[in-house]
Amino acid sequence: MTSAERYVKLVLSLGEHDSDYVDAYYGPPHWHEEVRATKPSLDHVHAAAIALREELRLTPQPQGGLEKLRFDYVARQTEALITRAEMLRGRKMTFDEESQALYDAVAPHFQESYFQNLNAQLAAELPGSGTLTDRLEAFRKDFVITRDRLDAVFQTAISACRAITQQRMDLPREESFTVEYVNNKSWSGYNWYQGNFRSLIQVNTDLPIYIDRAIDLACHEGYPGHHVYNVLLEKNLVRDRNWREFSVYPLFSPQSLIAEGSANYGIDVAFPSDERVEYEKASLFPVAGLDPAGAGQYYRVHELVAKTSYAGNEAARRYLDGEISAEQAVQWLVAYALMSPDRARQRVRFFDQYRSYVINYNLGKDLVKRHVEAIAGNDSDKRWRVFMQLLSSPTLPSNL
Ligand SMILES: [Zn+2]
Repeated sequence: MTSAERYVKLVLSLGEHDSDYVDAYYGPPHWHEEVRATKPSLDHVHAAAIALREELRLTPQPQGGLEKLRFDYVARQTEALITRAEMLRGRKMTFDEESQALYDAVAPHFQESYFQNLNAQLAAELPGSGTLTDRLEAFRKDFVITRDRLDAVFQTAISACRAITQQRMDLPREESFTVEYVNNKSWSGYNWYQGNFRSLIQVNTDLPIYIDRAIDLACHEGYPGHHVYNVLLEKNLVRDRNWREFSVYPLFSPQSLIAEGSANYGIDVAFPSDERVEYEKASLFPVAGLDPAGAGQYYRVHELVAKTSYAGNEAARRYLDGEISAEQAVQWLVAYALMSPDRARQRVRFFDQYRSYVINYNLGKDLVKRHVEAIAGNDSDKRWRVFMQLLSSPTLPSNL
């Protein structure tokens, strides 16, 4: 059995003990059937992963190029798998130790004063009185997409992002995805990659959905985000090179930092500078039945709120490290991430389920952005090329 096949079967085996672990699998179905039939114990999976790690250590490494990236990638993914198995057996780690072990990165720490300063900037932009979070809620009320228009708005945004991406990338003709609306989830959207260049995208409609979610969802989950990333890995690595290890995607692994980071940065790639606001005014606001006159201010506020995203990491770190309670984490998110109490509670449920995974969104974006812009600068064509290279290769966070 090759190392690639062993790795895939180990990921599938760990998935038998952790229902969130296997995010996608489209390799040989009989591998999955074999794992389900034998259902190796957690101890067995752990021991077999350590044996694979040792074997990889003794294998002569490729000197460079894609082969070297491939080798390092499997070794590092295996390392993360060992950690996840240990966590399932009860190993306790700090938030930062965990994110380093699972995602190959540690998020920066910010003091409370950093967020107080951001709040002061937002206070200048938001009308009204009361707490900043209440004022933000009141301001955003005029930008809710009503349930009856939701699908039309999302489909419009998806078509636009797809057209922009197709101008820049050669995507397989048969690629496509479907959108479903769901409830009672700890996340707001999810891409379930099915293989054969298809994704199922689920949108959680538990809480109000604001106009910015349309491009966010279309780019992040679709084009040029998760869907495109998975399509390019399947096309370039699994089909063209027969590198089977890429037919499985373990969620709690360094791959997720690249996936979430590129999905978030994909919005900037698809809509450089002011293009997003112009597009939304002309196209999405009318479909949503919203007044385009408010788009400029809405996105100024949106950008400031986006800067508070690291408040979410701080809440997660403090909560998971046992420094604050769930209720205190909710209060922190309301005060500094400016979430409504309902959204903050949903977020704490996300912390419980996915833990330090939260760093993949904002730190991931910052790392991908830095990597792409260090090479491409402000040149839009070059950005697309570097971005596409990243999505088509086995890159680790520490390579960025
Ligand atoms: Zn995502």
